[in-house]
Amino acid sequence: METQPLSTVKKPLRIMKFGGTSLGDATRIRKAVEIIRDAAREGEVVVVVSAMSGVTNRLIEAAKQAKSGNREAVDAIFEELRDRHCEAVSALIHSVEMRSRISRDLRLVFEEGERLCQGTILLRELTERVQDSISSLGERLSAPLVAATLAECRVRSETVEATQVVVTDDCHGSADPLMDSTRQRCESCLRPLLRRGVVPVVTGFIGATREGVRTTLGRGGSDYSATILGAALDAHEVIIWTDVDGLMTADPRLVPGATTITEISYREAAELAHFGAKVLHPKTLRPVSHCGIPLWIRNTFAPERPGTRVTPTGPTTNGGVKGLTAISDVALITVGGPGIVGVPDVLGRTFATTAAVRANVLLISQSSSQNDICLVVSSSAAERTVEALRREFAQDLVHEKVEHITLDPTVAIVTVVGKNMRGSGTVGRTFAALGKGNVNIIAIAQGSSECNISFVVKEQDVKFALDATHREFQLGVLDSRAIPVQSVAVGPSAWRYESEPRTASAD
Ligand code: ADP
Ligand code: ASP
Ligand code: MG
Repeated sequence: METQPLSTVKKPLRIMKFGGTSLGDATRIRKAVEIIRDAAREGEVVVVVSAMSGVTNRLIEAAKQAKSGNREAVDAIFEELRDRHCEAVSALIHSVEMRSRISRDLRLVFEEGERLCQGTILLRELTERVQDSISSLGERLSAPLVAATLAECRVRSETVEATQVVVTDDCHGSADPLMDSTRQRCESCLRPLLRRGVVPVVTGFIGATREGVRTTLGRGGSDYSATILGAALDAHEVIIWTDVDGLMTADPRLVPGATTITEISYREAAELAHFGAKVLHPKTLRPVSHCGIPLWIRNTFAPERPGTRVTPTGPTTNGGVKGLTAISDVALITVGGPGIVGVPDVLGRTFATTAAVRANVLLISQSSSQNDICLVVSSSAAERTVEALRREFAQDLVHEKVEHITLDPTVAIVTVVGKNMRGSGTVGRTFAALGKGNVNIIAIAQGSSECNISFVVKEQDVKFALDATHREFQLGVLDSRAIPVQSVAVGPSAWRYESEPRTASAD
């Protein structure tokens, strides 16, 4: 048998993202660093980091307080964040030289944050740009900390600001990547580091426009950063390291019997993420869906467990229900009345209005008599959407063609996700399960993709709805096709994917 000379064997490249929960304190950062160190022995690694847990929330609070002119509150938040990071530095970095370097780097980031807040206090105005600059400070604090801890463990590493590599549009707060430019930047900035055996530690969540203006990818966006870099560098795999054993059949905080899904398709994982599985940012699957790069979700605190493997088509054998999700911070808007049948283009006008106010419509349902249109939007967009709809239909309301435009903020969406669910009685079984607990289903929507069925229920019924549906579809029964772990530190080896077909990556 012919063997390849060692020097020509391409080392696997892994993108490893560590979420805030994996970087919550010095002990957790040490765990993450051990995983990176072991992976760096086997191949090339690009690390993507979130802010330490809770830090982004505090920064957003600081920005809000600055806008209201509350200088003391801002100072208190910065003091608290400074203490937390200093504590981590003291516990993790022992070399005097390294400690003074990292302390200086962190001080510069804190000073920039304080200047941004002072400007906001003076102007009493918080622009989207400034909001992005303040909310992204946490990643700029955690990345040097992780890089320095790696250096202490004799792993060559360098902090890389994502503004240098992730080029985005200018949609502040939920920017999307411009992949051609991002690819070029990754080749010129990250590839040389990898060739020199250096582990780049990239700030997640952040990007910059072509003009260099800082943007963010949306809350929880470091997952998205990881797959953007994975696609741009044509990585062998992307691993999302988090605080649970993988993508689970339901949020384990709501359904204690939830189990880890061994393998799932991109499509199903994307549906779970879209409908509220917080473990993945809703757009995480987008960059890799063109190029077939496997994505893993694994537990930083139990790296010996295999986690979930997300692949283009998922396991070949099973269709049916894979998981459940719920989103509670939503509101139901109803545009209705018997007269709306006669109102021209009521659907078109409704959705032109939601688009104009940039409301993300999560679910739509219309009664066949066309008497009611129900739409579910995120709570944050609810008030402005209803106001805009009332303006749009003002004349029709006066003439009672549209009888009511109502808002119910006390609802939630429960979604059942799976493959080939049509004809499998999923709707009937879910109805029956919910009926046993007298849960009232307010609206229902099924995508033509057969991948999801969503139910709108009262918020107080969510836990029962999830528990009952989880039991009905026996999702608590552990998947017997568990993938064996090949390496304790980084789990299933990337080498296996070398032979898997890849299609050319597209923008
Ligand atoms: P990280 O800090 O690693 O980004 P997140 O808090 O953003 O972590 O996401 C992990 C959390 O997502 C878990 O602790 C879990 O409670 C929640 N979660 C919600 N739905 C799911 C699901 N279906 N599978 C796994 N975790 C889920
Ligand atoms: N730190 C950011 C947030 O809290 C991004 C992330 O955690 O992925 O939203
Ligand atoms: Mg997250």
